[in-house]
Amino acid sequence: MVARHDQTKDPRLQEQLLQARRGTAFFARKLNELTDAELDGGSLLPGWTRRHIVAHVGYNARAIARLIEWAATGVETPMYSSPEARNHEIEFGATLSPIALRHLFDHSAVHLNVEWRDLPADAWHHKVKTVQGRTVPAEETVWMRTREVWMHAVDLDNGATFNDIPAPVLERLLTDITGAWHTRGMDQGLLVKVTGTDLAFGDTRAANPTVISGPLAAVVEWAAGRGSGVTAVRKSAALHDAPAAPKWI
Ligand code: ZN
Repeated sequence: MVARHDQTKDPRLQEQLLQARRGTAFFARKLNELTDAELDGGSLLPGWTRRHIVAHVGYNARAIARLIEWAATGVETPMYSSPEARNHEIEFGATLSPIALRHLFDHSAVHLNVEWRDLPADAWHHKVKTVQGRTVPAEETVWMRTREVWMHAVDLDNGATFNDIPAPVLERLLTDITGAWHTRGMDQGLLVKVTGTDLAFGDTRAANPTVISGPLAAVVEWAAGRGSGVTAVRKSAALHDAPAAPKWI
């Protein structure tokens, strides 16, 4: 008899699972609002149509489900056999018929959810490897998926904005992005501030930083390379245009 509720009893993880499920439902809603013909339209990601986004999000769920199977069985199953295989899969997926594309998204999301739901409580700590080669506990996959569904819902360019993304997700996203900059030494002289809060990210010790500020959603949108609704100041002088954010992926 298969359990119909999450095996984990960790309230923090249950909250994170909720955030991933909400994001998946949100992506599904934005996808379902699009007609089949509109799937051919452009997305916010350069070179990608909406079809590419849907294919990528579908295959991402399958790849993450492989990590959960790994955590459950101990048999190593990587997300993708290679970066080329991942890209090839997306290119192929983008050519599917609209109905097949929609099924890919729906079925892969349900499959991943079942894998998460049935993963034994202690297996959430088992180590798996991300596509970047990082070794992480299986519980990290919930965040990996959360990030994908919320951001790519915006990338569908169908009316969703960063304002639709819950604040805890935005904050963690900003932590991730500025952390990636820091790891690569790309955050030097760049201070990111969220107006109306004490939140500061990036080079918090710089003497004369370029300060990027704005509401949380605008700052994260800018940091993710998807918008410019922020204010930029250097040496007390407002810049006409905010500089492009460093790359993070
Ligand atoms: Zn992605």
